[in-house]
Amino acid sequence: MFLEQNLCLANCESCPLKNSKKVSSLILDDSGVDVCIVGQSPGYEEVQQGRPFCGRSGDLINKILQQYTKKIAYINVLSCRPLDTVTNKDRPPSAMEVKCCRARLDSDIDYVLTKFLPKITLVLGVIAKKEIQRLVKSKKFPNINFSEVNSGV
Ligand code: SF4
Repeated sequence: MFLEQNLCLANCESCPLKNSKKVSSLILDDSGVDVCIVGQSPGYEEVQQGRPFCGRSGDLINKILQQYTKKIAYINVLSCRPLDTVTNKDRPPSAMEVKCCRARLDSDIDYVLTKFLPKITLVLGVIAKKEIQRLVKSKKFPNINFSEVNSGV
């Protein structure tokens, strides 16, 4: 199940990536979520296939995780691919892009964590870690307990 409905919460009009193809968060198995993965943004392969975490690094994570469970939710801080138009390579999201996509991110996380109560939330990379730390500090989701934040997996 794709969480396309939350895309309308993103402030795309003000976002530098407004003309990019969007990749929604995905819940692999509607019956439950054991592991929620929060990453940075889709890459080339994700945009081509229209689903998160199907590129090289996603494949590696899936290979490891799916030995244990297929009940996985995939969420990215950005729903679009931040591309350096000069080098045509992926670049880190700008603060503006993160801000514009934040309401959508918060809503995706809220939905997955409150509805499915995953056993583990795996946070990948510095940008995702910062966003999760922001949520923890804001106490916006008092029922959600992020007991540990991991990055660089
Ligand atoms: S990154 Fe988010 S806010 Fe920016 S255009 Fe894509 S969906 Fe909209």
